[in-house]
Amino acid sequence: MAITKVWLDESENECTMCGACEAVCDGVFEVPEKMTVKKDADFAANEAEIKEAADSCPTGVIAYAVDGGEGRAN
Ligand code: SF4
Repeated sequence: MAITKVWLDESENECTMCGACEAVCDGVFEVPEKMTVKKDADFAANEAEIKEAADSCPTGVIAYAVDGGEGRAN
């Protein structure tokens, strides 16, 4: 079950720019203001870290898709 897409989903809450996701996985997440996903991010190599970042995001705004289906940790 590979992660194929990661994005900021502010449909319910907003990114507070806390930087926690970048601290967990700076290969994928950048927080220059609100979180962005790096264009050259290797999702396969950072799968565990992406899930950990989504789990630990205080506002639950990190979404990811697994093999084309949408998923979110919280
Ligand atoms: S952990 Fe969540 S709230 Fe904090 S910067 Fe990342 S996306 Fe935004």
